[in-house]
Amino acid sequence: MTTKAYGALAADKPLESMDIERRTPGRHDVQIDIAYCGVCHSDLHTVRSEWAGTLYPCVPGHEIVGQVSAVGSNVKRFKLGDTVGVGCLVDSCQHCPSCAEGLEQYCENAFVATYNSRTPDAPGHTLGGYSQRIVVSDKFVLKIRHPQEQLAAVAPLLCAGITTYSPLRHWQAGPGKKVGIVGIGGLGHMGVKIAHAMGAHTVAFTTSESKRRDALDLGADEVVVSRDADEMARQAGTFDIILDTVAASHDLDAYTRLLKRDGTLVLVGVPEHAHPSPSVGNLIFRRTAIAGSMIGGLAETQEMLDFCAEKNIVADIEMIPVQDIDKAYERMLKSDVKYRFVIDNASLLG
Ligand SMILES: [Zn+2]
Ligand SMILES: [Zn+2]
Repeated sequence: MTTKAYGALAADKPLESMDIERRTPGRHDVQIDIAYCGVCHSDLHTVRSEWAGTLYPCVPGHEIVGQVSAVGSNVKRFKLGDTVGVGCLVDSCQHCPSCAEGLEQYCENAFVATYNSRTPDAPGHTLGGYSQRIVVSDKFVLKIRHPQEQLAAVAPLLCAGITTYSPLRHWQAGPGKKVGIVGIGGLGHMGVKIAHAMGAHTVAFTTSESKRRDALDLGADEVVVSRDADEMARQAGTFDIILDTVAASHDLDAYTRLLKRDGTLVLVGVPEHAHPSPSVGNLIFRRTAIAGSMIGGLAETQEMLDFCAEKNIVADIEMIPVQDIDKAYERMLKSDVKYRFVIDNASLLG
């Protein structure tokens, strides 16, 4: 089916309106009319081919929410009109050990990403949520239980939400634990809300004094300005988990120093230029670890959506028409957004 979309024809071209084809739903497929799509940093990196290997035309977007508009004959979990979401994955091999454990994001045969992955569908690679509709295998579709009026602000949970929720769960954030969140942007603001809702003592780290009030409003119990050496020194050896959302190259020792014995620094951003090599001493003397984590599997993403619905957690967003996407990317690069842009997909018809 011909579908309106917004994408780029080359790395150096602005995004523009285009028509794409979506497959006719197969027996296990769900067709979704997209209401809103969040804007992730990965969209910008991919559309501008900053990570290399971008396939054009490129239609980004992997924070998708909308309504079911058709289902295949074998689809049992969804019906017409259901409010659903699609995140970063639309398929995986379904038989490797990671897939068997519901950890499709670590599929050993490479998962199919929502955009820029090879697929038999036209034009040979997946096209994302900056579009009117998408057709996805039912296993990769998520139920949304938030009230309708929150739907736009739910979209960022599908990437920013699960990217922070999954490591907080894995390393057991909760009551009695002290959790640090480094960087208060699209990911970090979700991390603060989720860690707080899990019952952890939540400390936000920011480089700017101006974000102190904002971080407290998001639910942080304490805020530390990371450029202030005295403030940092007072936190030494006290953290169970520090979730570092900053993708720019920086000194990791500043944070491993703050871990208690057996504490973990978890990285979720991939820096363009490597971080300076961390001090092994900080790791050995208190048996601390530096770890990484990537999005989440389908079961955990559903668990996160249900947790956020129950705790009334959504992202803080600024809604834009799709025609403003290049302006939004420029503002994102300057961290000039609180805290996530979300596209109103009705604007595709404008
Ligand atoms: Zn993303
Ligand atoms: Zn697999």
